[in-house]
Amino acid sequence: MSEAPSSGTPYPYDAPASQALFDRAAAVTPGGVNSPVRAFRAVGGTPRFMVSGSGPYLTDADGREYVDLVCSWGPMILGHSHPEVIAAVQEAVARGTSFGTPGEGEVALAEEMVDRIGPLEQVRLVSSGTEATMSAIRLARGFTRRTKVIKFAGCYHGHVDSLLAAAGSGVATFALPDTPGVTGAQAGDTIVLPYNDLESVHEAFHRYPGEIACVITEASPGNMGVVPPRPGFNQGLKDACGKNGALYISDEVMTGFRTSRAGWYGVDGVEPDLMTFGKVMGGGFPAAAFGGRADVMAHLAPAGPVYQAGTLSGNPVATAAGLAQLRLLDQAAYDTIDRVSATIQGLVTEALTKEGVAHRLQNASNMFSVFFTDREVRTYEDAKRQESFRFTAFFHSMLAQGVYLPPSSFESWFVSTAHDERALQRIADALPAAARAAAEATAE
Ligand SMILES: *Cc1c(COP(=O)(O)O)cnc(C)c1O
Repeated sequence: MSEAPSSGTPYPYDAPASQALFDRAAAVTPGGVNSPVRAFRAVGGTPRFMVSGSGPYLTDADGREYVDLVCSWGPMILGHSHPEVIAAVQEAVARGTSFGTPGEGEVALAEEMVDRIGPLEQVRLVSSGTEATMSAIRLARGFTRRTKVIKFAGCYHGHVDSLLAAAGSGVATFALPDTPGVTGAQAGDTIVLPYNDLESVHEAFHRYPGEIACVITEASPGNMGVVPPRPGFNQGLKDACGKNGALYISDEVMTGFRTSRAGWYGVDGVEPDLMTFGKVMGGGFPAAAFGGRADVMAHLAPAGPVYQAGTLSGNPVATAAGLAQLRLLDQAAYDTIDRVSATIQGLVTEALTKEGVAHRLQNASNMFSVFFTDREVRTYEDAKRQESFRFTAFFHSMLAQGVYLPPSSFESWFVSTAHDERALQRIADALPAAARAAAEATAE
């Protein structure tokens, strides 16, 4: 989302094997990657091609080891190659990889999820977070027989056509598509509002009576950096939906089974009508889900008329990985993750403060990110005001010292139960030089 730095910026280009792979990749894949942020465009330099992961570490094609603070964008909450997850996967693979029939693994995974989250009465498994939000929106429209959807600027819900509209932060402005390929008709039923602004939600309901099918929001946003909901915001959304006959959809693809045993619901207790999940619940495999109120889910095929399907939905290997991971995520695991997160947050703040770098470290439970600004970030507009060039310098210094951060200042950092003393020490050792680099950085 931020500008690529100019080509004059010096980077430690000490990744020849990654560079060679990136060159090969660029010949056969647009931009050399299969998901845009991986290309390092926001920070420049050569994306590292990883060959293996173990605990809190990743090893790249040049044989360099990094402490991983991305954790595959959240899923690797137990660290890489957790022995019990790997064993569950091997056991499942040995029985076959896909049957195209129902199987016990998907039932057990759904039961584990329903057991953890009160308002989650029924779930349908899918293969990506994008599919989950797309299907939840379709179901909400089918259930309410209404067309319009409210989303918030800066909230990401996957690359669903109607949800790629994030432009237009004015109150109740209809969205223009953010990308070619999404038509005005697809974006035209999406109302994009500023995050953390309940007043604009009330105005939208007032302006389009009986037309709004649902409000979808990240349970606690992590896709514009970490910008938690103000106290009462989610409850206000829920109440506004209830009063106006719309459904409240909480997108927990990122927060689900990460911010607590019951995700963000376990933090704020606001009961959504529908929820979406992905990332952690797949244990590093493509497994995702949507679910919620049984009376709403009853409208889904084959129980009801709203169609939704998937060849690999509930895949036995993916569900085995997800179930093994969730079963290991007890309260002690969350206590560890929270402690590791708090330690790293403290180290980052200390290092940046020491160098006099204006910054805001924001967190939502154990998710956190750093904004290079001295003002609190409550909206996407606020997030865009940060000095991203400082993050670029900070990022490359950490990378050169063997710490892998998300390659954008608009992303959450993620930790795992595997981040031990040795990993934390490497982060602590790397931070002073990175903070100095941030302090000395200049806008090009
Ligand atoms: C990652 C994410 C998605 C999309 O999930 P994919 O599996 O990448 O399609 C949707 N919503 C949120 C909040 C996410 O963080």
